[in-house]
Amino acid sequence: AQAHIDAIEKARVLNAYLLETPDRALAMAAVADQKLAAGEARPLEGLPLGIKDLFCTHGVVTTAGSKILEGFQPHYESTVSHNLWRDGAVMLGKLNLDEFAMGSSNETSAYGPVVSPWRRQGSDAKLVPGGSSGGSAAAVAARLCLGATATDTGGSIRQPAAFTGTVGIKPTYGRCSRWGTVAFASSLDQAGPIARTVRDTAILLASMSGHDDKDTTSVDLPVPDFEAAVNRGVKGLTIGIPKEYRVDGMPAEIERLWQQGAEWLKSAGAKIVEVSLPHTKYALPAYYIVAPAEASSNLARYDGVRYGLRVPAKDIVGMYEQTRAAGFGREVKRRIMIGTYVLSAGYYDAYYVRAQKIRTLIKRDFEQAYAAGVDAILTPATPSAAFGIGEKANADPVEMYLNDVFTVTVNMAGLPGIAVPAGLDGQGLPLGLQLIGRPFDEETLFAAGQVIE
Ligand code: GLN
Repeated sequence: AQAHIDAIEKARVLNAYLLETPDRALAMAAVADQKLAAGEARPLEGLPLGIKDLFCTHGVVTTAGSKILEGFQPHYESTVSHNLWRDGAVMLGKLNLDEFAMGSSNETSAYGPVVSPWRRQGSDAKLVPGGSSGGSAAAVAARLCLGATATDTGGSIRQPAAFTGTVGIKPTYGRCSRWGTVAFASSLDQAGPIARTVRDTAILLASMSGHDDKDTTSVDLPVPDFEAAVNRGVKGLTIGIPKEYRVDGMPAEIERLWQQGAEWLKSAGAKIVEVSLPHTKYALPAYYIVAPAEASSNLARYDGVRYGLRVPAKDIVGMYEQTRAAGFGREVKRRIMIGTYVLSAGYYDAYYVRAQKIRTLIKRDFEQAYAAGVDAILTPATPSAAFGIGEKANADPVEMYLNDVFTVTVNMAGLPGIAVPAGLDGQGLPLGLQLIGRPFDEETLFAAGQVIE
């Protein structure tokens, strides 16, 4: 814990931590020492972790990367972080993120962007770590924690993992409780870990998972021994390659890496087949209707009365308006406006209902592939390597949304997906591959991910 506290202090230029909690870390580490000495070690005894600042932590300021929650001290602990502490993990602090997890580069954080520890060969231009879990990915990549919690609504675990050469898994919807995690789009949000290796993510996910009475969407299924699945191998498995993911303008090196990944799985004993997921091209536009719709509803609670920031005004409506005007950033306001529009009486059927229908079709595409005997699906994790800070943030927002083309389908279908580092691009930046599994079959993803890693 002390070594990590020192490393965090030296790496403040990365802006990965929004809040450092060294006193808490050392107190928790002291308990861990006692448990270890007494031969009573719990599964994660003494492991120092970072927590994405979207998870409420009891008595520790939780901002969701937004000014509107500045100074908010929850009087409860998220179930996911509670489970980690129960198992002996040590909290190093709260990690930066895009505001309310809305973004793909960590540049929408009200507390400034996170800087990736990676650089292109021969250049010192600062790169994004990806988002929204950019603080989590950068902290893991820069060795500022052994692992981190993250959340994934449309790719926010897998894309930053791919950009930073780390491993991230978004489990099946319902595997982890969402209780105490600040809500973005409730039907898509899932927690998961980012860590250095497939095995580390398996160990962390086992602790984070499990049924919780406080979240009615958390499933009552036993948590498998994920770590045991890591070395299972892929002999006899069928891995699908979806032809619709071969998008226009995909860099040749990503195409090559994808083929390379298929080769690795094949030589480890898997059968590689082509599959078709015909509704893939509608996933991104449908996601950018469903996610803002749910966000506009979830974010209605930030009214200046109950949480964080309050801007005083002469009447209550003025107070709501001024608090929300001052507290939310541009991207969050954009999502609230889009969401309110697509849910409004005159447009609900044209946008929201259609997007929900598309969501069903996307889910069905996967069901058909799995029914035909496919065990997991291999795709690139992202359409490019990490880009520069400022490079896309000031452009058309759709440019940024396009980053999510390979990841959003998985959230729309509620499936598990893992991003595993698979190689470097021509400029020395990490590239990741994604494996998508059957519902509640994270084990196959750990086994196949280990072969690629
Ligand atoms: N980039 C996507 C968005 O901005 C996904 C974010 C996420 O998964 N939290 O909505």
